[in-house]
Amino acid sequence: MTVINNGGSTLRDLSPSYDPWDPIRSLRKHGRHRLTSVEMTVTNLCNMRCEHCAVGDTLVLNEPDMIPLDLMLRRLDEVEHLETISITGGEPSFRRQTVDNVIVPLLRYARERGIRSQINSNLTLDLERYEKLLPYLDVMHISFNYTGPENFHQTGFANSGHPVPYAAAEKMYTRMIDNAKSLSRSGMLISAETMINFRTHEHLPQMHRTILEMGCRRHEVHPMYPSAFAANLPVLSLDEMRVAIHDLLDHRDENVWMLFGTLPFFACGSTDEERALLRRLHASKNVTVRNDPDGRSRVNVNMFTGDVFVTDFAAIPSFGSVYRDNLDSIFEEWTTNHPLNRTVDCHCDAASCCGPNLLVADMYYKGVDFKSRRAIMD
Ligand code: SF4
Repeated sequence: MTVINNGGSTLRDLSPSYDPWDPIRSLRKHGRHRLTSVEMTVTNLCNMRCEHCAVGDTLVLNEPDMIPLDLMLRRLDEVEHLETISITGGEPSFRRQTVDNVIVPLLRYARERGIRSQINSNLTLDLERYEKLLPYLDVMHISFNYTGPENFHQTGFANSGHPVPYAAAEKMYTRMIDNAKSLSRSGMLISAETMINFRTHEHLPQMHRTILEMGCRRHEVHPMYPSAFAANLPVLSLDEMRVAIHDLLDHRDENVWMLFGTLPFFACGSTDEERALLRRLHASKNVTVRNDPDGRSRVNVNMFTGDVFVTDFAAIPSFGSVYRDNLDSIFEEWTTNHPLNRTVDCHCDAASCCGPNLLVADMYYKGVDFKSRRAIMD
């Protein structure tokens, strides 16, 4: 689907050869990391409490007023190289007022400026609130980690603190599937993310089939982020993860875009198996491996406090505020001076790699100095 912005120009289709969220693009274009993407957390409310939720610790039952939308739009306007925005939560559409007064204006801003947009949702609420996004949204990103309604019931409410009846969960599961089908038919690009973890790793092909049945145009695959609720869940070994990815590649539909992100495998890896997997990923039709944008080309803004983070995950503290500074200068300070950034700020262009996600590196490569490693191009 080709889309046209208010300036009348045609926006390029998102595709395996054009993913503006991949920070390697702006790194190549500008010769250094630039802020091209801003993610905004527009709610900490959610109707689910997933076992693996990477922002679970920040979820609340009531929340305060937001920062003025004008301030946020002004800060976005100041970002010189802005190419994408992402809207996240909680469930961003949990309150209808948030959809009407915050999400739609942000998406309209993006469309008018000619930049691309994504929203992260569980898609389990009524269809009408998602249909409002159809005229403006580029990517509806959903989580899909389920083998069916029983599994959805088990994992989707694991941290509710009270029993959730199976019938209620089943109804939400069915609504999510029906919403995805309906929105896909209306032309929305739905990208369903499956995380690879101890529960999903042996069921990825089955989840892939359901994702295709929902009409999703992209299947995203990421390892579980060890943050918040997920911090204490069992961790897969790198071998188990590698086997799971091969299994998925063996069984996937090659006509559908499959995007792998925040992988714990690198061209500088010491094993042949690791590098062979990367070669297979890079050679496979309609498969892309996205570098992690967090802290490389993207910052996250908490729309309640104005605090700026590397990621929407709570694990890494804020390093600025939209009340005090513009986002380009906050990002500049992070890239040039922050000690955490220095541990993973590597780049091997021949391998199309610009280093690991901070949390995933911490999970599998504690103490490894990526800046002293180089890609091995077999
Ligand atoms: S950019 Fe970093 S993580 Fe990627 S291959 Fe090079 S040294 Fe390894």
